[in-house]
Amino acid sequence: MKPLIVWDFDDVLFPLTEAWFTVCGPKIQSRITHFHQITENPPHLIMGISLEYYHESLDNFRNSEEAQLIQLNPNISDWLRVNGAAYQHFILTARPLNTIKAAQCWLGNNFSEPLAGFGFVPAGRTGQELSGYYRSKQDYLMGEGMLPNYFIDDNATTINAVAKGSHGAVTILFPAPWNRAWSDKENIQALLPGGLK
Ligand SMILES: [Mg+2]
Repeated sequence: MKPLIVWDFDDVLFPLTEAWFTVCGPKIQSRITHFHQITENPPHLIMGISLEYYHESLDNFRNSEEAQLIQLNPNISDWLRVNGAAYQHFILTARPLNTIKAAQCWLGNNFSEPLAGFGFVPAGRTGQELSGYYRSKQDYLMGEGMLPNYFIDDNATTINAVAKGSHGAVTILFPAPWNRAWSDKENIQALLPGGLK
């Protein structure tokens, strides 16, 4: 069997925060003027906006036509061109339920390799009932009995939870300004499976 990679969607394959900030950031009066200054995620506190405003703006952007035009992270697309066929690819995203279809549509148009599967953990939004769903990506892997060889995510909490689980996956924290891997942002190819360390 080919090794299985579980990819995060937002801010790994799909550069959500950077694209959202480019489009919606200028409308927000904030001391944050560049993407690399977003050292917290969610960034509402450092941007001086409410969590509700941030979620609404981000989710509207996720469902916009503009978002469908965003390109796959170029480092990953270069990596896939050379290495993609040697692995199985599963996408596991944590998004609000009303933005899942937009992610699937984007993947259909932008992710070149066949997918071994797609899963999601709903991100909580005010007034939504989310019982009956997995609560975290770690729960998802456990519940589905998945044993990925590689697990790639920009969220350090998620990476830590999966690393502590008994999956035996190699965990890769994907560089973002809000995590400690950001210093490796020039070296993304080396971080990915089979990369030269
Ligand atoms: Mg992410």
